[in-house]
Amino acid sequence: MSRIAYVDGRYLAHRHASVHIEDRGFQFADGIYEVIAVIAGRRFDEPRHLDRLERSLGELDIAMPMSRAALVCVMDEVVRRNRVEDGILYLQVTRGSAPRDHAWREGAEAMVVMTARHQSMPPDHYFENGIAVITAPDQRWRRNDIKSVALLGNVLGKQKARRAGAYETWMVDDQGFVTEGTSTNAWIVIGGRIVTRPLGPEILGGITRAAILDVARELQIGVDERLFSVAEAAAADEAFLTSTTALVLPVTRIDDSTVGSGGCGPVTARILEDYRRVIREFTKS
Ligand code: PMP
Repeated sequence: MSRIAYVDGRYLAHRHASVHIEDRGFQFADGIYEVIAVIAGRRFDEPRHLDRLERSLGELDIAMPMSRAALVCVMDEVVRRNRVEDGILYLQVTRGSAPRDHAWREGAEAMVVMTARHQSMPPDHYFENGIAVITAPDQRWRRNDIKSVALLGNVLGKQKARRAGAYETWMVDDQGFVTEGTSTNAWIVIGGRIVTRPLGPEILGGITRAAILDVARELQIGVDERLFSVAEAAAADEAFLTSTTALVLPVTRIDDSTVGSGGCGPVTARILEDYRRVIREFTKS
C-alpha cells in the first residue's frame, strides 16, 4: 500500500511529497512538530499534544495554521488514508516559505505537513530487562520547552547512544544535573519515590511525563520534581525513561553503572502496568 502525506493543503503520494527549498523549516529550523501515538486506530492523548503544539507555536509567534477542528479532520484523514492501526502521526508546522532572511515577514502563512505510519512498540525484552543509557553534555539551546524541529543536539546525542550500543543519551547540564533524554524524559526512583526534573526551559514537557505524574498520583507513589545528578541516578534504586513511542522503559545501565538490581524494578513495573491499563481503557472507550 502506498503511503500518503499531507502537505500544505494536499494529500500526496509520500515519495512525491516535498516542500519548497526556501521553506523556513528547511533553512532555519523555524517550525514546531508533534508526534502522537496511534493505538487501535485512535490518537492517544491528542488534546494534550494539541495544547503543547499551540503553546510551542505561540512561543515562536507562529499563528495556528488552521482551527483545532480542522487539524483534527486532517489528522483523521492522514491516519485513515495510511490505514494506520498502531503507529504514529507526525505533524509539523513551519513558518512557510519566503526569500531567505533571518527576520520573517509579519503575517507569513504557516505550512503544515503530516505523515502517519505503522510503528511497533519497543520489543518486550526492553520492558522486561531494561535498556542502557549513556550520558553526555547537553549542547542544545536554552528553550528546550519549545518542541521545535531544531534537533541537532538531540540528533548528535542519539547517534552517540547508537554507536555505544545504548538506547538513549541522557543529557547533562553545566552543573552536572540530568536534563532529559534526546527524545525521552528521565526519571529515577529513590526510597519508593519517583524523581524527575521540574518543568522549565531546560526540558520538553513530555505528554507521557504528564500522564505518568497522573498515574503516580493515582497509585499514591510520591513524586519529587527536582534536579538529580548522574551520580545520584547511577546509585538510585531504579531508573526509567518515558515518551510517546517508548512508553515507560526501565533504565538498567547508566554509563558503566548497573542501576539497582539490574532489571525492571518494582516501582517502574507498577507504573508501566498502570499506564498500560490507562491505554487499554482509552482504546475501549
Ligand atoms: N524530551 C524530548 C527532547 C523529546 O523529543 C521527547 C519526545 N517528543 C520527549 C522528551 C518525550 O515527550 P512525549 O512524552 O511527549 O513523547
